[in-house]
Order: sequence, then C-alpha cells, then structure tokens
Amino acid sequence: KLFEDCGFPTALMGAITKQGYEKPTTIQCQALPIVLSGIDIIGIAKTGSGKTAAFVLPMIVHILDQPELDKGEGPIGVICAPTRELAHQIFLETKKFAKPYGICVAAVYGGVSKLDQFKELKAGCEIVVATPGRLIDLLKMKAVTMVRATYLVLDEADRMFDLGFEPQIRSIVGQIRPDRQTLLFSATMPYKVERLAREILSDPSRVTV
Ligand code: AMP
Repeated sequence: KLFEDCGFPTALMGAITKQGYEKPTTIQCQALPIVLSGIDIIGIAKTGSGKTAAFVLPMIVHILDQPELDKGEGPIGVICAPTRELAHQIFLETKKFAKPYGICVAAVYGGVSKLDQFKELKAGCEIVVATPGRLIDLLKMKAVTMVRATYLVLDEADRMFDLGFEPQIRSIVGQIRPDRQTLLFSATMPYKVERLAREILSDPSRVTV
C-alpha cells in the first residue's frame, strides 16, 4: 500500500515525502482509507506506530474540504492528548503537514502562559492540539468556541482516563456538534474507555495493530 493510493493533494504528498515517509505504517494502511471516507474510528495502537499521521493527514484533507474555510471562527480540527509533551509532539507533526496550505495550528497545554494561549486562540486557528484541562479553562474564558469543529481526535484515551480527565473530555465532546467525525486512539481499551467510545462515536470501525 502506498500514500499515493490515498488521493492526497500534491502539496500534502510533498510534505509526506519531505518527512521521509516512504510508505504508510500498518496503522496508517488500515486507518487512512476509513478516516478519509468520513467514518468514525477506534484505533488501538501505541506511540511509535505512526498513529499521529493516521489522524493528522485526513484532518488536513477534511479542513481543505470545507467550503468556506476563510469564514467562521474557532478550530475545525480538535485534538486532545493526555500530556503537554505528547500535545507538543502532535503539534510539531501537525504543523509540518499544515504549513503548505497556510493552515494555522495552535497548541494549548498547562505549564505555559494562559494569557498567551488566550491571545493565540483569539487570533484564530483551524487546528487546536490541547490537553483537556487547559482547553476547558480556555473554553470557559471564551478564548475559543467549538461551533466550527467537525473533526475530533482523542489520542491516548486510556492515559487521559488514568490522569482523571474523563469529565473534561465529556465536557469538550459535549460542546462539539454531534455530526462531527470522531477518532479515538488508545493503547488499551479498559471498560471506561469502551463505554465512552460507545457513547461518543457513531458506528465506528475498529482497527488494532
Ligand atoms: P507516532 O506513533 O505517531 O508517534 O510516530 C512514531 C514515529 O514514526 C514518528 O517519529 C513519526 O515521524 C514516524 N512515522 C510516522 N509515519 C511514518 C511513515 N509512514 N514512515 C516512516 N516514519 C513514520
């Protein structure tokens, strides 16, 4: 299987090549066609599998597909991750694929100035990568609205639950329109994660690597 088979636009293919990605990893082979067709997915995969590109590449396509990209406010793509380290890592990878299109990516997580992040979100962005607690704070401060969000990724869901983020995740999901596309990635599927998946994903496909 090849990235070419995914029908990615030229500049995105260029960014993939520039990254040195020659062919999709196993999770990418399995997940990309499903996610690109708009179907919800549960991906059971660990860090190192290439799961980040499996949700970021279709997110870029999803954003480019928006009819009036320049209108409206708030992010179209929302990614939640358990730790600031992981959020920052996802932010860096996302930026590489967003850059050719001038798609703006913001990262919001604890440990850095909330005011700076407030200003950054106020200035507008198409993608936000966040830890759940900080995103909730910024939503309460009205730094950002979820009215335009249609593509939601919960990464390392099991770790977010271990860190006690279930209420924050539920609150964030509750603010995003129900006809969104939802992707949930987790290394393991304990009962609580399975229950959340059943509640917030519609008719998901499941891939395990
Ligand atoms: P991840 O599991 O998303 O954290 O990715 C693990 C590492 O694999 C990262 O350094 C990625 O840049 C790299 N990677 C992701 N997809 C590919 C690919 N198709 N070919 C080669 N490396 C990749």
